[in-house]
Amino acid sequence: RATRGGEEVRGYVPSMGQIFMRRFQMVTQFRQSVEDGQVSVHYQPKVTLPNRHVQGVEALVRWVHPEFGKLDPDEFVPAVEAAGLIGVLTEFVLEQSLRRVRKWLDEGLRISAAVNLSVRNLADEEFPRKVVEALERFDVPPELLTFELTESGVMSDPQKALPILRELHSLGIVLAVDDFGTGYSSLAYLRQLPVDQVKIDKSFVLGMGTDLGDLAVVRSIVELGHSLGLTVVAEGVEDDVARDQLEAMGCDVAQGYLISRPLAEDRLEAWLLARTA
Ligand code: C2E
Ligand code: CA
Ligand code: CA
Ligand code: CA
Repeated sequence: RATRGGEEVRGYVPSMGQIFMRRFQMVTQFRQSVEDGQVSVHYQPKVTLPNRHVQGVEALVRWVHPEFGKLDPDEFVPAVEAAGLIGVLTEFVLEQSLRRVRKWLDEGLRISAAVNLSVRNLADEEFPRKVVEALERFDVPPELLTFELTESGVMSDPQKALPILRELHSLGIVLAVDDFGTGYSSLAYLRQLPVDQVKIDKSFVLGMGTDLGDLAVVRSIVELGHSLGLTVVAEGVEDDVARDQLEAMGCDVAQGYLISRPLAEDRLEAWLLARTA
């Protein structure tokens, strides 16, 4: 069957309603898609500045649908969330990541994995218990697991999210605020969150070479983060110039296409080998 741009080509153009219905059905079948092996995890390395030691990887979910092809996580993650299935997604990514960290430990490598959380995970009181169970099952120390959460996620229901975050933090898991700088009440709230890291949103890092405003935002997040005792991570590092600027500002960790794109497990292994050889 011929496909074009992810949609079927059968001599007619499906209506918006038909496309919507199919996408909706697709998301409700997420659990089955995981079981069928359509869902996987790619890992993007993060390196310390200035010495470029591999500090960890970010786990990023991938879904290759038999009919629609590669799906964009920026689109399907919110849809999976809306369908009430984010628990399935997060648990899958967490398990794959911990299995990977365990393999590295067995090879003598201490590399941490960062898993993205959704607001809905922070509304599940059972979530910390599930995490502890997974850490024990794979025998991974909690400090080798990072959770990334967006500010707006935590802010949408702080009463519910905060106790869960405190519990995860007290277990020794590292917490990072993702997409920092894009929220509305960043500065005041950051002090009250039990976090260890801030990740500067890639839009500022991508823009800082040409936009003085973006450069000023990046600089002030690095300063703010350090004054609060946090590790500062920059995402979206695509060229040497950006990396050198971040290094000069004292940014602690860099992530982006310059270092590596997100890679499937086997390609990541090859990347790691080539670096340590
Ligand atoms: P995010 O958490 O901000 O992840 C970073 C995104 O930036 C990833 O997109 C990554 O591939 C991309 N990226 C990395 N380096 C560069 C770079 O140098 N330049 C540019 N332009 N982009 C770069 P991706 O994988 O498409 O994921 C998009 C978003 O989907 C993520 O944004 C995150 O919000 C969400 N997501 C992905 N995986 C998961 C997951 O397992 N769970 C949850 N809850 N959300 C996820
Ligand atoms: Ca992230
Ligand atoms: Ca981000
Ligand atoms: Ca994002």
